[in-house]
Amino acid sequence: MELYIHIPFCVKKCEYCDFVSGAYDTDVRAAYSRSLIREMEMYAPDFSDATFSTMYIGGGTPSWLEPEYMDAILSAMQKSFHIEPEAEITMECNPGTASDEFLHMIKRHGVCRLSIGLQSSDDTELKRLGRIHDFNRFLHTYELARNAGFYDINVDIMTGIPGQNKRSLTHTLSDVIRLKPEHISCYSLIIEEGTPFYEKYSEDLERQKRGELTQYLPTDDEEFELYRLARQMLSDARYEHYEISNFARPGYECLHNIGYWRRVPYLGLGLAAASFYGEHRYTNTAYIYKYMEETDSGNRPLESDIAITRHDAMAEFMYLGLRMTEGISRADFAAAFDMDIEAKYGQVIRDLIFRDMLISAEGRIRLTEQGRDVSNQVLCEFL
Ligand code: SF4
Repeated sequence: MELYIHIPFCVKKCEYCDFVSGAYDTDVRAAYSRSLIREMEMYAPDFSDATFSTMYIGGGTPSWLEPEYMDAILSAMQKSFHIEPEAEITMECNPGTASDEFLHMIKRHGVCRLSIGLQSSDDTELKRLGRIHDFNRFLHTYELARNAGFYDINVDIMTGIPGQNKRSLTHTLSDVIRLKPEHISCYSLIIEEGTPFYEKYSEDLERQKRGELTQYLPTDDEEFELYRLARQMLSDARYEHYEISNFARPGYECLHNIGYWRRVPYLGLGLAAASFYGEHRYTNTAYIYKYMEETDSGNRPLESDIAITRHDAMAEFMYLGLRMTEGISRADFAAAFDMDIEAKYGQVIRDLIFRDMLISAEGRIRLTEQGRDVSNQVLCEFL
């Protein structure tokens, strides 16, 4: 099984962010940490037989939590759950928020992988995103992490930043590649409703929808060019493109995310955290005071509990599994659902192979290069 822990605190909200996170004062951070530990203790008896092979502490900005609260959370986690000694334990970290003391403390608790949110090495783009750091602060944090003994580091990069162009993305990629992180994630900016960016770029968003030229945001074609540029530069630098948005040195793929794409069950704890086990998907409340009130009263802070139908499970198997370069195995599908994949998706698969979007070979089905370029459209065919 996998374990996810959500720490919803940030120094300040980025302008594009719609994650469940915010800038709360230290009293709330202390109270939340206590509630999170209570939630772990609540779930521990039900998962006493489970072994956790990966853990992901995400946010928010977990690296900004006071070291004493994080220390208590990580101790409680080790006490409550059976974590494999060699488990991959990742923590998200934002530039300028992790002290040397903090990094050494989490390392002692078994955190072996850091995911650092850089997004861009261009300070103007960082400012436009509302990030709290500049490139120099990132370099400082990266160096601290290496000196603290982290030899498995992911760096997040973003494409589609307003005003970004091929030249600035080339600089960002070159700056990151030069540092030789083990893993690089390259996601495109999605502008979500309710964020300051949605207001600011509403006219451009309308133009994008109509396929017209935009003023600040990349058009679909430009966005696609940026993605291709990233893919080319990273593969030239010998990063393996193992999932649509993820690149790694051999042996440094993120096991936690691979588990997610392979539908390995996971327990999610913390504000708005989602869990998946026993073919149910559970989601915690996204209201922080309600979360604390419920856990403090000994109740599970659940907002929803949805049973996954057989049809939905098959669709998930396809659209999550096909995100990975290796694709999905026909035998695994048959073993999971006691049904030949052709009986369920034969027509869709044949059609996508005909359109050169999928390849079927040696018992596996995967996206072609062309299919990866329009992966959202291809994967939707299985919904
Ligand atoms: S640091 Fe991450 S979680 Fe926090 S506001 Fe920015 S994008 Fe959102």
